[in-house]
Amino acid sequence: MPRTIIIAGNWKMNKTPSEATSLARDIAQNIGKQAVPSVVICPPFTALHAAATQIAGSAVRLGAQNMSDKASGAYTGEISAAMLRDSQVSAVILGHSERRSYYGETDAIVNKKTIAAIEAGLSPIVCVGETLSEREANKTFEVIHAQICGSLANIQPVQTENLVIAYEPVWAIGTGKTATPAMAQEVHAFIRKELAALFGEPAAQGVRILYGGSMKPDNADALLAELDIDGGLIGGAALAAKDFLALVESGRKAS
Ligand code: PEP
Repeated sequence: MPRTIIIAGNWKMNKTPSEATSLARDIAQNIGKQAVPSVVICPPFTALHAAATQIAGSAVRLGAQNMSDKASGAYTGEISAAMLRDSQVSAVILGHSERRSYYGETDAIVNKKTIAAIEAGLSPIVCVGETLSEREANKTFEVIHAQICGSLANIQPVQTENLVIAYEPVWAIGTGKTATPAMAQEVHAFIRKELAALFGEPAAQGVRILYGGSMKPDNADALLAELDIDGGLIGGAALAAKDFLALVESGRKAS
């Protein structure tokens, strides 16, 4: 079965609820009920409600940018999977490189969150990617191998139905430097092989692997044409409706 392309916008720590209302409205009005590609917007927690209100009735789905691995209790400042579910969220970005580098998230933490997300019925978008120094030291595959095995430990093949991986080379995030389509495809194919080793070939063929790192309207077509690139996780270009919708259009053409 072909993998439906996903175009996901990571708004990071941008957009107040009022700003989110306007951006989500513009996106939802344009997408309407168009289901392909699958469009996900990931506002900050404080804007989830505003965004949910605007996208209600459209095919646009709501995602979060992080969550706790704990179910409930005395964890000040944290947000649980159940809270996200009850806020109309259906996907959650986990292990983004900014969370790994600024907030000390390890593969073991990402793994606990991924399992909690799956058990709650959320679609986890698990981020992996090498730094510039790791790439220059020819350690890209070693790093990705460790991140994939560590972040996806103790997950069963049947639990991969809504699993999404985002390959985001850290050196390409927010820098304007993009991996060439061939460079990205090489790593995506490697990730799919790793998934096959963990979960078997049929499950691996079903997992969407998104590219993230300065994806823009002028480079998206070439990236999305690659066999194992099943969509994009987009930061900067997700903050303006015009750019994001152009990326959705690239996703539609590649479908
Ligand atoms: C991201 O942070 O997920 C990302 C891909 O950012 P940008 O598109 O701005 O590089």
